[in-house]
Amino acid sequence: MRLSRYFMPILKENPKEAEIVSHRLMLRTGMIRQQSQGIYSWLPLGKRVLDKVNAIIREEQNRAGAIELSMPTLQSAELWQESGRYEDYGKEMLRIKDRQDRPMLYGPTNEEMITDIFRSSVKSYKSLPLNLYHIQLKFRDEIRPRFGTMRSREFLMKDAYSFDLTQADAIHSYNKMFVAYLRTFDRLGLRAIPMRADTGPIGGNHSHEFIILADTGESEVFCHKSFVDFDIPSVDTEFDDVAGLQKIFDKWTSVYAATSEMHDEAAFGAIGENDRLSARGIEVGHIFYFGTKYSEPMGAKVQGPDGKEHLVHMGSYGIGPTRLVPAIIEASHDDNGIIWPASVAPFDAVVINMKAGDEACDKACETLYAALQAAGKDVLYDDTDDRAGTKFATADLIGVPVQIIAGPRSVASGEIELKDRQTGARETMTIEAAINKLTA
Ligand code: ATP
Ligand code: MG
Repeated sequence: MRLSRYFMPILKENPKEAEIVSHRLMLRTGMIRQQSQGIYSWLPLGKRVLDKVNAIIREEQNRAGAIELSMPTLQSAELWQESGRYEDYGKEMLRIKDRQDRPMLYGPTNEEMITDIFRSSVKSYKSLPLNLYHIQLKFRDEIRPRFGTMRSREFLMKDAYSFDLTQADAIHSYNKMFVAYLRTFDRLGLRAIPMRADTGPIGGNHSHEFIILADTGESEVFCHKSFVDFDIPSVDTEFDDVAGLQKIFDKWTSVYAATSEMHDEAAFGAIGENDRLSARGIEVGHIFYFGTKYSEPMGAKVQGPDGKEHLVHMGSYGIGPTRLVPAIIEASHDDNGIIWPASVAPFDAVVINMKAGDEACDKACETLYAALQAAGKDVLYDDTDDRAGTKFATADLIGVPVQIIAGPRSVASGEIELKDRQTGARETMTIEAAINKLTA
């Protein structure tokens, strides 16, 4: 992408409305724009990051055996009357009427709709287990939308829903998502800690919020420090291995971790003083086993091996991609701007032409730009006629992992400079060596 032809409206000044660093940086880099309270456009740079986050979420959902579909944002109120949640949901639900005066709503979540899809076509236990997910916009009319897309009214959610014949099977489905979440957040460059969450009237140990530690987080959290060293399940984890997954779950839930709602002062106090961690955190995911809460009122049943009808056991599993993007920035930035983990960076590298219009500089940059693109890299080429200082500041601000700097002096001897955004380390090398290094 040539910067001269791109759309990346950088702000020079810090926007006053932004209270936390991620919101400030997302506005300054032109990743997002607020359209009305808590409702955002994702501009091209932001959209690139969001797409990369979604791609990782999708890969890990698929690996764990979940199947993608797409459900609409607008739902009929009827389904919600069946489950009894239409009245319960309160003011967070945006209710609308169509021209025939039929009550509709902008979906805050999809348990009812997925249960309806399930009951309309699945009749036998032989079709189970089944886990269906989508990545779709949700709307919740939050009282206090704030911090940009961290807590917005319209936001993206990956929501998956599992269906099983028995509670034991449902726990296995739960463990699959638990492991998929550990892998997903790790690939996004985050250390997320699963914390026991309130299960409401159902009880049990099967609701976890995945929390990343950050001073600006809205949740108060308490946990054992050892989480920092726990191993992330490997890419070849066998998701059908019931005992194997249970072992991973048991390990990750073996030490204390809870948000303030579930906090147990005595259990926390039993941890050695040096191992106690009390901090703030951001909820980036939430998984929940809820048994027959929806299958019962909505009549979602399958025929079991015994020939009888059984209500299916369900779970739901959410991740907030539009919250994850600012969460990653909260975890990874410095005074000069964002430092993207390579896995979600909007571009793999930025080529900085320090003297656009200079024949040798232009030629070196075009060579680099073409070679890296041919190797499948996402490259931003700063071909504008801005001052070098402005270009360096922009490159640091938008946080692309590698900067390739081509100035008249180095180019004259066939060389460029590589700068690592994270460490600041610089290296001079030939253009050819740079291409080899970055495409290796
Ligand atoms: P919170 O406690 O932060 O209000 P929640 O418990 O209501 O969230 P869930 O219903 O568990 O959220 O939704 C699943 C995921 O969707 C959350 O873990 C979060 O990542 C994301 N999410 C929920 N609400 C918002 C929002 N208003 N803005 C952005 N992301 C959100
Ligand atoms: Mg939650």
